[in-house]
Amino acid sequence: MNKSVESVWASCLHTISMHVSQQSFRTWFEPIKPVGLNGSVLIIQVPSQFFYEWLEEHYVSLLSKVIRNELGEEAKLEYQLVVDPAEKEEKDADKMPPDASLSVNKGKAPSVKWKNAEKIKNPFVIPGIKDMIIDSQLIPNYTFDNYIEGECNQLARSAGVAISKNPGGTAFNPLLLYGGVGLGKTHLAHAIGNYVKQHQRDKMILYVSSEKFTNQFIEAVKNGSIPDFVNFYQLIDVLIVDDIQFFANKGRTQDIFFHTFNHLHQSGKQIVLTCDCPPKDLVGIEERLVSRFKWGLTADLQIPDFETRIAILEKKLHSENIDISRNVIEYIAYHVNTNVREMEGALVSLMAQSSLNRKEIDLGLAKLIVKNLVENMSQQISIELIQQKVGDYFNVPLEDMKGKTRRRSVVQARQISMYLAKKYTESSLKLIGKHFGGRDHSTVIHACQAVANQMDTDRTFQDDVLELQKQIDISI
Ligand code: ADP
Ligand code: MG
Repeated sequence: MNKSVESVWASCLHTISMHVSQQSFRTWFEPIKPVGLNGSVLIIQVPSQFFYEWLEEHYVSLLSKVIRNELGEEAKLEYQLVVDPAEKEEKDADKMPPDASLSVNKGKAPSVKWKNAEKIKNPFVIPGIKDMIIDSQLIPNYTFDNYIEGECNQLARSAGVAISKNPGGTAFNPLLLYGGVGLGKTHLAHAIGNYVKQHQRDKMILYVSSEKFTNQFIEAVKNGSIPDFVNFYQLIDVLIVDDIQFFANKGRTQDIFFHTFNHLHQSGKQIVLTCDCPPKDLVGIEERLVSRFKWGLTADLQIPDFETRIAILEKKLHSENIDISRNVIEYIAYHVNTNVREMEGALVSLMAQSSLNRKEIDLGLAKLIVKNLVENMSQQISIELIQQKVGDYFNVPLEDMKGKTRRRSVVQARQISMYLAKKYTESSLKLIGKHFGGRDHSTVIHACQAVANQMDTDRTFQDDVLELQKQIDISI
């Protein structure tokens, strides 16, 4: 009768795996270790406070259900936190001779000891201001407030918020954000910096692209000022390095970055990195660096879904104080669907065109602009597309649409499809009839009339047809 903690947890995992996506399962359940079973109390070990909070916020009802299932109604769950992994990492990094990677200065080992702050030249000084006040290089309006949350960025955003509140103090160090072009990596990285800047004024924050870091290093080599360069970077509390894939094949820059990384990490400073691919796919970057990138949390940004894209556009319009009709917004969000930057670009050109030509921003103008932007513009409107949309809307399968059934709901869907086919395509009545199981053209005429009549008298019916027209309008 006595079940082992492992077997209880294994059955829990089995049930959980059927209720959450594979990605969530891997991220949030695989890392859990079952550590004890005390009567009906199951004790599990989780890697961090944040992890625990995430589970409580998102999975508490699922967890309690599966655990009750295994251990009965009295079952309880207790969490245990893993001891801070930083201790282990510190030891690991200690094995490295501290300056092994810094032999660039013609055999002269650069000094890494703490220098008097005022003496340090740094690449971001604001002229005229005391040396140590650095310009963080942050873009002020890349904030969390302006960053729309969606399933596509949930983990990355929450982790970003967590470290903003406690830079260097969570297990997410470094935080590595990765994802395709224009999906919000840079924005999110700045949001973290801006938040810390606003709430912890004593912290030194620096945003730097990997190219800029590389160029500064090359300059430092030229001027013999590597120690200054190193010392400057070691003073930062929150270091944000954007697009680290550009470190590829730059061995000496990687060395110096490795050193900087270790120093900051060991001193409990926060590091935020962005990359256009997951760390395992990085080419031309030394393994010892790649493995460090994976020390903290790696979170991806995906393409936002349709609703999130609409929310992003609306936020943008709101901040610019511009009003555009909803169907135009939907049209852009529907078609420009792989890259947020391009989507915003479409909106900007739309606004520009409209003010240049003093034209109102309507669906026609939007279509014109989007067509120029998006290469593979969607399908021509076809009878099949209409059948599919109407079929989905009324839950009528295509066979029925083409078949003989006279069921009221089917007849209605069939007639509306014919009406829309006539309205939206150039097809002849004969061809339309053919698509509906070979009906003849008089049936199509009758359908068109029937729909037009009913739209005049039946409000609900009219709403249905208009909604379908709207859906078709934005899909072409
Ligand atoms: P990346 O660095 O991944 O190429 P960016 O951070 O430069 O992408 O984002 C491109 C544009 O899209 C920016 O203007 C950014 O503000 C916007 N953007 C991306 N994701 C979001 C989001 N979730 N909410 C609001 N704006 C977003
Ligand atoms: Mg970027």
